[in-house]
Amino acid sequence: MEVCYQLPVLPLDRPVPKHVLGRRGAICLTSSQVLFGGPAPRQLSKRRGAISYDSSDQTALFIRMLDVRLRSQTGYTLERQVSAEKSEKKVRHESTQRRQHCMLQKVGSWNFDIFLFERLSNGNSLVDLTFHLFSEYGLIKLFRLDLLKLRRFLVIVQEAYHSENPYHNALHAADVTQAMYCYLQEPQLSESLTSCDILLGLLAAATHDLDHPGVNQTFLINTNHYLASLYQNTSVLENHHWKSAVSLLRESGLLSHFPSEDRQCLETRLGSLILATDISRQNEYLSEFRTRLDRAELHMNNSQDRHFILQMALKCADICNPCRPWHLCKLWSHKVTEEFFNQGDIERRLNLDVSILCDRNSNSVAKIQIGFISFVVEPLFVEWARFSDTPLSHVMLGHMTSNKFNWTHLPQKDLRGTTQTCNVSLPTETALWVGHTTD
Ligand SMILES: [Zn+2]
Repeated sequence: MEVCYQLPVLPLDRPVPKHVLGRRGAICLTSSQVLFGGPAPRQLSKRRGAISYDSSDQTALFIRMLDVRLRSQTGYTLERQVSAEKSEKKVRHESTQRRQHCMLQKVGSWNFDIFLFERLSNGNSLVDLTFHLFSEYGLIKLFRLDLLKLRRFLVIVQEAYHSENPYHNALHAADVTQAMYCYLQEPQLSESLTSCDILLGLLAAATHDLDHPGVNQTFLINTNHYLASLYQNTSVLENHHWKSAVSLLRESGLLSHFPSEDRQCLETRLGSLILATDISRQNEYLSEFRTRLDRAELHMNNSQDRHFILQMALKCADICNPCRPWHLCKLWSHKVTEEFFNQGDIERRLNLDVSILCDRNSNSVAKIQIGFISFVVEPLFVEWARFSDTPLSHVMLGHMTSNKFNWTHLPQKDLRGTTQTCNVSLPTETALWVGHTTD
């Protein structure tokens, strides 16, 4: 093998010409021994499988030189190296799949780390998680859903989210779907919801922010966006999410085998669920929830009441970030603030009034979160806990209280303060929040 050092140095990453590879096994051997002074041609022929060499064939020589050099310097044949890389890749892939499978076994856990799941699913958390939940509930068999159509539907849903949005992207939809599943598992719901309710709840969670542009309704109205005029400045985003969801359902043909009346009913109910996520109508839903709880008027054997509870569950799932463990809460908070501040930057460039919550010069992640928890999250989750007095509700309220404490008291370095802070007073009115549609 010493002979290899007398050969010209070839770059190891130089691609072997395709036309040469195409000739492998078809080259006739005559005088390689003379050229290389190495083992007998017969031995070379054996080592290289079916390949043999001809001294006049320069491209064949190129392959052999590369091969000899690799053998002597690394101790491995090129083939072995490639095969080792392949098997290493396979082992890594299998290990990732096992971890993803393990995570899905605990999909009902409130500590579920959707960011880790996103990595394990290679950016397909919304598709993989929703498909798993459909399967776990037996919805595929029950509603005779075509597996390919279902997967195709979920893929086009995932792709219809804007991955460039820091917050309103497919990962947020996956997180909301996972939270919705946790609520669907709560005794009050699991003992009374029908399979149709569950199908709707999961579909609404997965599609509730479809095609979100990363700016709020106020921005769309102020910039005369066509969606604002189309929906007459009312629940502009939510109407668009709903219509987009219906459009993708029809395009995929997922429910094409349903009787048209059932399909229409499902599309209407889907709209009613998605429209409930409009945070500017928060007080309307909350006061009805409170009143009906006070009067003990919610009966889960009544289909309209079940639908109302599904609306409330989706609203909770949509804004549950502050009720998650601190490390998850913190990540989401920074993402949503980044999206707000991006909008503020655009408003500034367009010479529009910069929305208060979107102004990076006069606001901070911590201040925004404290206001959001105080005026929006806490009132909703307190009522939810009255309705569903379970360990999960108490865990959520516990996280919310401790997260609010952290935003208020922890030093900036522990808040991963990547955004500027200032001394402006906190938002003092819920109106500030309901005027800023976050969904
Ligand atoms: Zn949302």
